[in-house]
Amino acid sequence: MCSFCGKSHAEVKKLIAGPGVYICEQLRHPVQERLDKELAAQAKKPRAKFNIPSPQTSSRQLDRHCIGQEHAKKTLAVAVHNHYKRILQEAAECERGRGGGKRRAAGDGPARGGGY
Ligand SMILES: [Zn+2]
Repeated sequence: MCSFCGKSHAEVKKLIAGPGVYICEQLRHPVQERLDKELAAQAKKPRAKFNIPSPQTSSRQLDRHCIGQEHAKKTLAVAVHNHYKRILQEAAECERGRGGGKRRAAGDGPARGGGY
């Protein structure tokens, strides 16, 4: 009988044998629903882990392709690092407050001279 829904051979049209298990052709197995849920939960948290490559890492990568030009490589590596950082920051801000993130109102700072 089906290892997942427990139906017997006689109750289902097809019973497919796996290593030590059997599954029938029924589409509504509890196990399948659970799988769906888990997959959906996984899909909900995108970019769970994205490590910004450090300038050192990028620099080492560049060393593999290009000999010399240390200064250029270093500059590029730092630029890449900052670029990623900004992208991630913007994405985080976007997620935190949709519609929020108002810019500071003018006249907020101390640059409001004039006296009287
Ligand atoms: Zn089944």
